[in-house]
Amino acid sequence: MKMQLAEIAKAVNAENDIERWKTLEVSSVSFDSREVTEGALFVPLMGERDGHTFVDSAAKNGAVATFWCRDHTDISTDLPVIVVKDTLQALQDLSRYYLMKINPRVVAVTGSNGKTTTKDMIAALLATQFNVTKTQDNFNNEIGVPVTILSMEPTTELLVVEMGMDRPGQLEFLSKLAQPDLAVITMIGEAHIEFFGTRDKIADAKMEITSGLKADGVFIYNGDEPLLRERAEAISQYQRTFGREAINDFYPTDIVATPTATSFKTNRWPDETFEIPLIGEYNVNNALAALAVAATYQIRPENMHQALKDFDITENRTEWMKGARGEQILSDVYNSNPTAVKEVLSAFIQVPAKRKRIAVLGDMLELGTDADAMHAELADYLHPDQIQSLYLIGTHMKALENKLITIYPSDSLHYFPTTDLSALIMQLDKEVTEDDLVLLKGSHGIHLEEALNALK
Ligand code: ATP
Ligand code: MG
Repeated sequence: MKMQLAEIAKAVNAENDIERWKTLEVSSVSFDSREVTEGALFVPLMGERDGHTFVDSAAKNGAVATFWCRDHTDISTDLPVIVVKDTLQALQDLSRYYLMKINPRVVAVTGSNGKTTTKDMIAALLATQFNVTKTQDNFNNEIGVPVTILSMEPTTELLVVEMGMDRPGQLEFLSKLAQPDLAVITMIGEAHIEFFGTRDKIADAKMEITSGLKADGVFIYNGDEPLLRERAEAISQYQRTFGREAINDFYPTDIVATPTATSFKTNRWPDETFEIPLIGEYNVNNALAALAVAATYQIRPENMHQALKDFDITENRTEWMKGARGEQILSDVYNSNPTAVKEVLSAFIQVPAKRKRIAVLGDMLELGTDADAMHAELADYLHPDQIQSLYLIGTHMKALENKLITIYPSDSLHYFPTTDLSALIMQLDKEVTEDDLVLLKGSHGIHLEEALNALK
């Protein structure tokens, strides 16, 4: 991007006189001094540390100007400054201005699970016929969304933004900021239920993504979810649904899973077989959401086909890796919640193993008062015929162990109450052979990456 300081000062209601720098040009915006590149505008945010203390290092890395919060009375930098009431708000205001200036069509994606995957699929499909900018990594909050907007090349025709939330009001804010032409809800799960109390309330909060949806915009959502169907009735914009059930506008037929890929057909283009290089039926849902978006923008079926086949996810959370003994590890150690575990287990048991399937499941955190019950429910997805050896880690997993004690032979059900994983790692070390498949899935706080590293 290219913006002059005068333009920026106006967009953010600068409180100082910037006349002498007005033609100075800025070519990027960054709030992390380590990421600053030549020509950047630095945005000192108030996080754990005051971002103003990093202005000097931003300048060293090439920043040519900086915002400055008016409450920091003494300005201790030689960089041109734009004094503002609040630096975060200024970042958001600037992104709002830049969005209007570039004026791409905006696709916003939310949901309890699958946001990043679906966002990446949508961007891959749309990029076959348009100039697309998308959210990098997981930059999906009130800082990440403005940063995504400001990362657009001026030629951007379509902007695909991931929007996350962990409290009511957050998506409303982000949606009104980005004013989507198309809003997607991938699904409603139980993530953050500790804070929301019920799935109803989560659904209400997710629906906020439609609050900034343009009047002639399109709403695409998971129609298998009654909570969304009910709420969609109150939305006047054009709607399309996707999901596994045949009541949806886009539903799959003929799903075929291999160890590394999944193919499917859909009612919408019955002659086309789509293939995604990912496992898990849930990824078929993510792909259907993306296809519904692609259809809205008239992407040609042959382009859809190719883009899904070549799809390369930025941060695949469910990833096959090889262990030191040659065992295949399905690693998903970043986050966990009931829907995601059930989905991953359903996919895992379809992958043929030479010897055993071994599942290592860590606590699902932040589930609130029903946490133990939600852990116990996983019992329906675990059977010694399919998962021959099971490791459960964390205090909530005790509830699941209790349910499985009568089903699993005692030498193939291992429970570890603590988050000190050394005993688990020793046990895995004894058991795993090159002919096994190992699934690792748990909330980030359980640190199953330690077990992963040990296996690798
Ligand atoms: P985050 O909240 O961390 O940004 P996200 O919503 O962006 O997560 P992804 O990164 O796409 O989600 O996927 C994370 C994990 O969620 C996957 O590895 C998988 O276990 C699970 N998952 C993905 N898509 C779905 C889906 N449609 N339904 C259920 N579970 C899913
Ligand atoms: Mg994400």
